[in-house]
Amino acid sequence: MINTPYPELSDLLTMMGEAGRHLAEIEASEGAAGNISICLRWDVEPRNLFPTINEIELPQPAPELAGATFLVSGSGRRLREIIDEPTASIACIVINEGGKTGKLYTSPHRRFERVTSEFNSHLAVHYDQICATGTNFHAVVHAQPLHLTYLSHIPRYQEEKYLNTHLLRWQPETIINLPEGIGFIPFRIPGSPELMAGNVEALRNHRIVIWAKHGVMARSDISVKRAADRVEYAETAAKYEYLNLRVGEIGEGLSTEEIRSICETFNVQQNIF
Ligand SMILES: [Zn+2]
Repeated sequence: MINTPYPELSDLLTMMGEAGRHLAEIEASEGAAGNISICLRWDVEPRNLFPTINEIELPQPAPELAGATFLVSGSGRRLREIIDEPTASIACIVINEGGKTGKLYTSPHRRFERVTSEFNSHLAVHYDQICATGTNFHAVVHAQPLHLTYLSHIPRYQEEKYLNTHLLRWQPETIINLPEGIGFIPFRIPGSPELMAGNVEALRNHRIVIWAKHGVMARSDISVKRAADRVEYAETAAKYEYLNLRVGEIGEGLSTEEIRSICETFNVQQNIF
C-alpha cells in the first residue's frame, strides 16, 4: 500500500529503471531476459508520456481492476536499458470497464511490438494479490538469477522444505526478509497458462517463487525495488549454498536454534525451521 502524495508516473518509471539495472548488475537479467510490471490504482494521466493509444484484449478478465493502471516492460527489451529511456521500453495499460479489455498507451519512441510474453502471469498475480489484500500498489518482477536457477536443476533442491532449510541458513537477514521462504514451481513452458497458475498459487504464500530451470518471480506491495531486493536476497542465499557445495559442504550454516532465536528477537513468524 502506498500513501499520498502518490509518486508521479515519471518517478515510477525511474524506479523500474533502477530495479532493472540492479537486476542486471546481480547477473539476474542477461540479454533481454526478465520483465517488470507495476499496478497502481490511483488516477493517473498517461497521455503526456504515452500519447499513442490502442485497444487491447487482456490475457484474462480482471473486472475488479477496471480503471487500474499498469506499467509493463516490452517484449525483447533489456531490463538494464529501461533507465536510459523508460518510455522506449515500457508500455502503460489502463483496464477498461468490465475488465476484459484495456487501453494500451505507448510512446512514439517505443522499441517493442508487444508487452512481455509473461504479462499473463504478471496480470494474474497482480489481480490475485490486489483482490486478496486491497492494496493500491503492486509490483512484480521476473528475473533469471544464475545460482538460484542452477540449484533448481538439482533434484534435491526441487523439494521446498529442503530448498528452504538449505538456502535460508546462511545469513540472519534471509529469514527476516523472506519469512515464508521461497516457493517452487516445477518446469513449465514460458508464458504458458500452467506457469501463470503456478505463480498465482505460489505467490499467495510466498514473496518470491523459483521457476524450475528458468528463473524467479517476486512481488512487493511497497515498491518495485523491494521486489528486486527479494530476488537479490534469495540469490545471495543461493550463492552461499553454491559456494558450500563447491568446497565440499564444510560450512555449517545457522543452526535451527540460532534461526529460531533470530525470529523471536525480531518477531518474525515462520514455519520453516
Ligand atoms: Zn524468463
